[in-house]
Amino acid sequence: MNSAEIRQSFLDFFASKQHAVVPSSSLMPTAPNLLFTNAGMNQFVPYFLGDQAAPWKRVADTQKCIRAGGKHNDLEDVGFDTYHHTMFEMLGNWSFGDYFKKDSLTWGWELLTKVWGIPPKRLFATIYQPDKSKGDPAERDEEAYAIWAKIFTDAGLDPAVHIVNGNKKDNFWMMGDTGPCGPCSEIHFNLLPSDDETEGRKGVNSSSPRCIEIWNHVFIQFNANADGTFAPLAAKHVDTGMGFERVAGIHATTRGFKDFSAEPSNYNADVFKPTFDRIAALSGKTYTGTVPTERTGLSEQQTIDITFRVLADHARCVSCAIADGILPGNEGRNYVIRRILRRGIMYGQKNLGLKTGDFSALVAPVIESLGAVFPELKTQRVMVEKAIRAEEESFGRTLDKGLQIFNRATAAGAITGASAFELYDTYGFPLDMTQLLATERGLSVDAAGFEAEMEKQRERGRAARKTDVIVAATEGESAAEATQFVGYGIDSTHATHAKLV
Ligand code: ATP
Ligand code: MG
Ligand code: MG
Ligand code: MG
Repeated sequence: MNSAEIRQSFLDFFASKQHAVVPSSSLMPTAPNLLFTNAGMNQFVPYFLGDQAAPWKRVADTQKCIRAGGKHNDLEDVGFDTYHHTMFEMLGNWSFGDYFKKDSLTWGWELLTKVWGIPPKRLFATIYQPDKSKGDPAERDEEAYAIWAKIFTDAGLDPAVHIVNGNKKDNFWMMGDTGPCGPCSEIHFNLLPSDDETEGRKGVNSSSPRCIEIWNHVFIQFNANADGTFAPLAAKHVDTGMGFERVAGIHATTRGFKDFSAEPSNYNADVFKPTFDRIAALSGKTYTGTVPTERTGLSEQQTIDITFRVLADHARCVSCAIADGILPGNEGRNYVIRRILRRGIMYGQKNLGLKTGDFSALVAPVIESLGAVFPELKTQRVMVEKAIRAEEESFGRTLDKGLQIFNRATAAGAITGASAFELYDTYGFPLDMTQLLATERGLSVDAAGFEAEMEKQRERGRAARKTDVIVAATEGESAAEATQFVGYGIDSTHATHAKLV
């Protein structure tokens, strides 16, 4: 199966279980407190809260998610590992007050092992086990344990080996301090060359890239009250999320879950191929798939391989965000997109010798891979390419010089707050990008010093504003006009970024 077939078979499977298949919602979140849509369930929150009646009892979809800020931030792992993206698709199925744990887990197992043919031996399930000494809520999820115990026993496997207890952080989902919540059960995939079950079990809840979480089933069964108690909900819900690129990558690497000798990587999935091919053509470099264990002292080829992954990831993320109306900008989520875009441009130019215009050339292969699933990419193509190209041109004017300044600043052995600020203010280097560059050299950045410089600049902005008011007022303007005059982009962050936009 190729990536498109895997995605489709997930949706078809749940359609066959009476789920309505719905489109992905926008990356622009509907909830005011989110930076980006970061999980499949975001668009269904009103149904869980009981604010609205769900139009269906069961739904399934593939949801565009960005985890590059806020509660979920995977940006620093992108490129350095092979299974966290900034933008990824989360395949999901939901029950709104309809089926519960038994169906969700049993169907999950059926899809993975019967439809897709994943060897049962390689799968492990986690269940919630509270640490009462830490005041964790609720009880061990015996219901999920019993369901998994039957599933594994029926498959001829030992539940004691294949079921692993998980803590509150990984296995109890809460939307906030209060509101709907409940335990979850994650399915982990052993990707070690050997299918030895004891070894596979050790990898669960470790950071090993050879045993990764593929699917999370969340069971919303409690309401967290303000007094810290948990009351059972009258209507119980299911909310699941599976990493599409993870499954597609494992499928591709293992030749259909059969050969586990190769190092797994999401980027082996064909959904990344057109972009990788384009990067290779533009740079004349070859991707070899190495994954570093350290962040410093990287070889040239390791750097090239990281850069291919970063570019393919960032090009997808930025393209999808812009197509959903989140353009690169100076504030909030727009600045996150600008930071990701500048990282991508910087990586490509520094590590692969790419030129201005090459990053926007990656939009075409992204659309080739995803346009059929997310048609807004096709309809917004011109806007996406233009916005990226404009950023490449503006940032491209200061990038080379900025890298020279960075290199000079490293001579002292650490990047001072003043240098980081100069890079930010004059050369458009976001702080996290300077930190990334510093990490490559085993150096650190004085982030507190940077903040102090930012504060000084804000101070200067405030002082300048006062002077302008006085000037305007003494020139015989009315007080009201003088106040309006203050509004002309004097705010320091806008003024400095405006140079680069
Ligand atoms: P992990 O522990 O691997 O970071 P998670 O527990 O944060 O994953 P969930 O919030 O449970 O992830 O999301 C559901 C599924 O989405 C995960 O099981 C995983 O397959 C996938 N997923 C999560 N984060 C990413 C990411 N940054 N890139 C790709 N897939 C992801
Ligand atoms: Mg995570
Ligand atoms: Mg996890
Ligand atoms: Mg999880």
